[in-house]
Amino acid sequence: MSAYARDIKDSLTFFVFVAMTALCLSFTFSVFVYQIGMLDDPRRFLVANLVVAACVAIPTATIASQHEFQLKRYQRQLESLASTDPLTGLLNRRFFRISAEDEIHRQKRAGGMAAVVLFDLDQFKRVNDLHGHQAGDAILKRIAEIAYSELRGPFDKLGRWGGEEFVVLLSQVNRDQAWLVCDRLRERLEHAEIEYNGKSLSITASFGFEMLSGDASLDRVLEAADRALYVSKTTGRNRVTYAGPRLAVSA
Ligand code: GH3
Ligand code: MG
Ligand code: MG
Repeated sequence: MSAYARDIKDSLTFFVFVAMTALCLSFTFSVFVYQIGMLDDPRRFLVANLVVAACVAIPTATIASQHEFQLKRYQRQLESLASTDPLTGLLNRRFFRISAEDEIHRQKRAGGMAAVVLFDLDQFKRVNDLHGHQAGDAILKRIAEIAYSELRGPFDKLGRWGGEEFVVLLSQVNRDQAWLVCDRLRERLEHAEIEYNGKSLSITASFGFEMLSGDASLDRVLEAADRALYVSKTTGRNRVTYAGPRLAVSA
């Protein structure tokens, strides 16, 4: 059975259950009223009606709210599963694209500049080979934490692009500011000592970035950032390259 069909079946089951509960309670009330002969006294009848209405409303509302609560919880779990990378907790590639596109549209309306940054850990395969895959995973998690703490919280978007490659959207920055942010993060990663199983591990990363203007497509900017990252890799690693017209490189 498909997920959609299962949702419909669950909703119908819920509907029938609530309807039957309400009907049973109302029926019980009618029998009760009839048995004790309250129909002659309007005041007693009104009070009894209110009591029974509460008897119907409370269980119905309880069931409905429990159901709503479960639905919301599942929805949140699904949203989280769909939007985050399970290892690092960062945005996954798909959700990063959605957030970045939103930001581009926002910038088109409100103006301003942004930068797209790709950074890739250097010689990461060697880390895995030397210390094991779990050590590699621990490094990826720690790098994600460090990068998140260096950036401006929810303002900048940080995602795992795949493997040991990360992507950042820096909002409201010009080229020089973006360069400074990248270089500061590069330096922070270079000096980070990552504890794993009593060992202190370290790693560097290479960066490439491109500015995102209102009329550029995200794909084109990502391609340019990737080309810049490649230049950082081939010119010594642990450096930042700006993709722009003249492909400037920093140490
Ligand atoms: P370069 O400096 O050129 O980027 O070299 P590199 O070794 O980092 O790049 P390469 O593409 O040769 O290797 C990437 C490695 O990253 C290989 C792969 O096993 C590892 N890797 C990718 N994803 C994960 C992961 O989720 N966990 C761990 N532990 N390793 C991963
Ligand atoms: Mg790498
Ligand atoms: Mg890579």
